[in-house]
Amino acid sequence: MITIVGAGPAGSYLAYLLAKQGKEVTILEEHSKVGAPVQCTGIVTHSIEKFFRLKNEVIAKKLDKVVVVSKNNRITVNVNEIVMWRDKFDRFVADMAQDAGAEISLNHKFMGFEGESTIIAKDKKNNKIKKIKTDVVVGADGPYSAVANTAGIDSGSKNYIGMQAKVRLAMDTTAFETHFGNDFPDFFGWCVPESDNTVRLGIGCFENAQEHFYRFLKSKTGKKDVLCWESGLIPLYNPKKIIQKGNVYLIGDAAFQVKATTGGGIIPSLKAAQTLCECIINSKDYNKEFKKQSGKELLLHLRIRNILNKFSDKDYDKLLHLMGKEKVRKILKKYDRDTPIPLVANLLLKEPRFLLLPTAKIIRYCCGLQDSRQQTIDNA
Ligand SMILES: Cc1cc2nc3c(=O)[nH]c(=O)nc-3n(C[C@H](O)[C@H](O)[C@H](O)COP(=O)(O)OP(=O)(O)OC[C@H]3O[C@@H](n4cnc5c(N)ncnc54)[C@H](O)[C@@H]3O)c2cc1C
Repeated sequence: MITIVGAGPAGSYLAYLLAKQGKEVTILEEHSKVGAPVQCTGIVTHSIEKFFRLKNEVIAKKLDKVVVVSKNNRITVNVNEIVMWRDKFDRFVADMAQDAGAEISLNHKFMGFEGESTIIAKDKKNNKIKKIKTDVVVGADGPYSAVANTAGIDSGSKNYIGMQAKVRLAMDTTAFETHFGNDFPDFFGWCVPESDNTVRLGIGCFENAQEHFYRFLKSKTGKKDVLCWESGLIPLYNPKKIIQKGNVYLIGDAAFQVKATTGGGIIPSLKAAQTLCECIINSKDYNKEFKKQSGKELLLHLRIRNILNKFSDKDYDKLLHLMGKEKVRKILKKYDRDTPIPLVANLLLKEPRFLLLPTAKIIRYCCGLQDSRQQTIDNA
């Protein structure tokens, strides 16, 4: 018996994959329904189609442009992105899991372990404590993971505050905006249309989130009104994070499997579910397999993030100038952020002036030119 804690995309997709292999799987979800509350922008690249064909009702918008904004520059790049209704998406994946034979126990909150093969859960409907016997436990319970904490594998995380709200604003409904520079320290701001007159507007940062958020909101709408909040934590990928200890595994935000450049965690968690399913079925070492299959890409995102966080407004202006070149746009359209290694390598081939920006380290990494000191740090 396999118990998965959390019916977000990571937990439900893993349940689907395991149930398809004939495993007995139960998901414990603390909320009374799957997909609520929403704490996400729900934007993904078309790479999502490698995992499944989304139902139309899950899709809020298809966007074919991103407007990238720096202090003194602004460019439009062609892309191929999907904005999802995140609550419907979570239910779509949970339905797949149930159709494959997995069970979902709603209103069930994971509380802790009793020994190695019993978990304690609270049935929130009647406040009763239950003891559940299980062979395997998977923490797919998000950035505050109680499974990681109680299993003693919470190696300390650094999280962005993702402050987002739904606000009234009419903008081009075929494009989303990303904003970079000193007004968006350590991350960026975004404005994503979900319908003709509402957008998901947000910022990520390590501190002073309200100040940065309201300044951005005011600059976009002239007001401080929001329709509803959709904020949450965005874990920063940590290559040293332990994600398996004995029969306890972590996945998704609980394992910090998030792209540090964008805060996108949906596609990395689906990919991690495939890796973890294979590890459980074939008794493989998940700590090693995950590093092999996704570690290099997530590390590259982290490196790019660390370098971007040193950029000045002027550096961003220059970066956008280079990104605006036709040959660069073609590459940005061909390779999305879910394939970062060929993306960066091809960018350099077509536009060597990227080397003049403080990005040389990233490029060395993509071209396999790591120096031995960096290699030692990565292996530590
Ligand atoms: C503001 C914001 C915007 C974002 N925008 C994007 C985006 O545009 N694209 C993208 O790819 N990613 C985005 N992300 C990240 C994305 O939301 C996460 O990476 C993704 O939700 C991770 O999925 P998960 O299944 O690991 O965790 P979650 O979706 O957090 O699911 C965890 C589940 O576990 C349940 N749970 C928690 N504790 C317990 C417990 N003790 N017992 C039982 N159940 C429990 C929760 O109720 C929840 O259902 C954004 C995040 C934020 C905060």
